[in-house]
Amino acid sequence: MVHMGRIVRMGHMGRMGLTKHGGEKCGKVVNKLSGTNDLNVKLARPLCGLTELRDYDPYISDLAALLTGVKPVIYIDLDIRSWPYIHELCRRFKLKYVFPEEEYHKEAFHLTPGKKIIILGFNQRKIREAARQWSISVVSVPWGVALGYPQCCVKTYAKWQHAESPFKKTPDLIKVISGQTRAKEQLSFTVNNIYNYYSRIRGGPKDEAMQQEIVAINSNITFATLQVISWHPCSYNCRKSLAAGEKIFAFMEYYMPNFAGHIKHYLARPVIFFDKYEFVTLDGRLRAGKLDYCGIPGPVSLAPAALFDKIRSLSEPAEKRRGARLDIKKLFSAAWKKKPELLNFGE
Ligand SMILES: [Zn+2]
Repeated sequence: MVHMGRIVRMGHMGRMGLTKHGGEKCGKVVNKLSGTNDLNVKLARPLCGLTELRDYDPYISDLAALLTGVKPVIYIDLDIRSWPYIHELCRRFKLKYVFPEEEYHKEAFHLTPGKKIIILGFNQRKIREAARQWSISVVSVPWGVALGYPQCCVKTYAKWQHAESPFKKTPDLIKVISGQTRAKEQLSFTVNNIYNYYSRIRGGPKDEAMQQEIVAINSNITFATLQVISWHPCSYNCRKSLAAGEKIFAFMEYYMPNFAGHIKHYLARPVIFFDKYEFVTLDGRLRAGKLDYCGIPGPVSLAPAALFDKIRSLSEPAEKRRGARLDIKKLFSAAWKKKPELLNFGE
């Protein structure tokens, strides 16, 4: 997975901020990640003697899932330069590992050449089972289950991955997940997977190029790791994913409260979702069918300017604060090229 993010905390109004009716001032206080240096995250309390972790190889969300027992193993498309760090993690946490490409004489697809797959965990039997499943198929249900993802979520993902649609484009996975979500009024930010493009790229080179572009325009935030759960849930109401998300986030809050605050700052927001690369993440709150917002704090999408203009034209100034108010009924009844959905991860 391409990682271009750096932990730099600042408010980002995006390419086309929705600031006509409001400004940055009415936003939440931007969480500052003090004491961090690029990918390094300082711990608030020592963890097996470690005072900091890196948010890369493995991502902290994945390592947290392993250390909390949510996942039995994690697999990493490892940059070989990360080996000293991984080796140190293995020593500290008493983790075991396997390089399945060597074991099964089969090379995986690597987005960046020179990488290597590693599977690590506490239990050798579970690592071996995951490696065996890896050798058979990496888009199968048994592989996802071996990694510890909820079976319901793995099934939805595999069905989407294998769906052949010769007449029309396969919808983005977010649309499938949203379609399977029954209670939509309030969603938990811990299952917000909108910015997780990993394993959602199935549209060929154009899709890959757009994914790289969206990562690039969000390079001021750790876009690639804005996640609590590292998998795609079957629905935003999936109980198993929600329970896992809660556990992982509690771990982050305990050991790295600044980092946890940073993740939440970006994930806990309402999103008007049009398509994979066209969404509007708002600094706002939904109350009684009205969305009060002040701007786009990021991540920003590749949505065209006309889409932002239209949202702005549908909004009215909010009374007491410098901000705008969007009537959700108006949003849904307006004529759009792509039908919008409101994914309310905001609190
Ligand atoms: Zn599920």
